[in-house]
Amino acid sequence: MGFPLTEEQQLIQSSARDFALKEVAPLAEKIDREGVFPAETMKKLAELGLTGIPTPTEYGGGGADFLSYALVIEELAKQCASTAVVLAVHTLTQSPILVFGTEKQKAKFLPMLTHYQVLGGFALTEAGAGSDAGAVSTTAVLDGDHYVINGTKMFITNGDGAGVVILMARTGSEPGTKGITAFIVEKSVSPFEVGKHEDKMGVRGSHTTELIFKNCRVPKENVLGKVGEGFKVAMTALDCGRVGIAAQAVGIAQACLEESISYSKERHQFGKPIAAKQAIKWMIADMAKDVMAARLMVRNAASLKDQGKPFTLEAASAKLFASETAMKHSIKALQIHGGYGYIRGAKVERLMRDAKITEIYEGTSEVQRIVISGNVLR
Ligand SMILES: Cc1cc2nc3c(=O)[nH]c(=O)nc-3n(C[C@H](O)[C@H](O)[C@H](O)COP(=O)(O)OP(=O)(O)OC[C@H]3O[C@@H](n4cnc5c(N)ncnc54)[C@H](O)[C@@H]3O)c2cc1C
Repeated sequence: MGFPLTEEQQLIQSSARDFALKEVAPLAEKIDREGVFPAETMKKLAELGLTGIPTPTEYGGGGADFLSYALVIEELAKQCASTAVVLAVHTLTQSPILVFGTEKQKAKFLPMLTHYQVLGGFALTEAGAGSDAGAVSTTAVLDGDHYVINGTKMFITNGDGAGVVILMARTGSEPGTKGITAFIVEKSVSPFEVGKHEDKMGVRGSHTTELIFKNCRVPKENVLGKVGEGFKVAMTALDCGRVGIAAQAVGIAQACLEESISYSKERHQFGKPIAAKQAIKWMIADMAKDVMAARLMVRNAASLKDQGKPFTLEAASAKLFASETAMKHSIKALQIHGGYGYIRGAKVERLMRDAKITEIYEGTSEVQRIVISGNVLR
């Protein structure tokens, strides 16, 4: 690929590839079937220093660039999209602390997350606030040295295991995106309840739950960024998050391509491998072309972030294109597998179910189009 990786990036990529093949791939089917959280894998990722890849070493992170992080997510997702999203959200929790946190907050919370002493979560969505993230109704009311938080967050990845959650709540009476503040909620200090555990179509090894805050007292010093600027904190975090989800989608799409190539060469019908049929060749050609484009878009967005340049447009574009690529071609990959692809346990069947969520979380495809058009029509 004409997007040269540095020696360090190549090394991270090949280590992640080996790890994913050896440690992640053998568990993927069970994780999906039984909805098991990849606990052992997360511990091993921590031992390898991969639970805080782009976070500086002074906070216990890997000190690598964001592109390296995207390479790791792609390799994990190729084998198990659940494992990839668990790590992506755990890492997403660190980025707003790094950008908006005080030195004290960084010194306290980042090492906990990078060393995986706690799992991270990001709590923005509510029943009435999905795409319309400014409609958050969870409240945070100042009472002495604490904010008292009340409300219910929905669909929170890592919700049941999270020890540190970046939470968006309303501190002001202003409507919409104004009056929202971000908090770092440490469960051991400010307990909250885990509500409904969602039974999902895909990424079943990542746990998605409600989080219920009932008079949850969070120290004032855990406000992340300025009071009233929580929407900005959330959107900045999501720019990074979208590159991670785009990389996850590229991993899924690459797996679809590899499965399609090997199956179409093996499967004989009408006396020849089905790969000899033009209909199959064209499906595979389109898949290869789109995966290549999606990967380049992810690397472009990550590289702009690494250069300290604006990357909102590129992150949304990469997320939109990569997720639609994963969805479209997972359907084609299943088609190439015929009836065998439709049977539970077939890898392409899992890939198709996993691909769908990449078009929904961290902003639906429609929301990405709103972000893109808002940028180019300015
Ligand atoms: C498995 C999973 C994990 C998740 N993890 C997290 C998490 O860790 N943290 C978190 O905070 N959230 C999380 N979410 C929530 C996720 O980000 C939201 O589901 C997503 O943003 C969409 O919100 P919604 O489901 O309320 O859909 P809605 O906003 O109700 O959208 C419904 C449909 O309407 C469309 N739509 C909405 N508004 C517009 C518009 N203005 N123009 C055009 N079309 C529009 C949408 O694109 C969609 O097609 C997760 C969700 C899932 C399913």
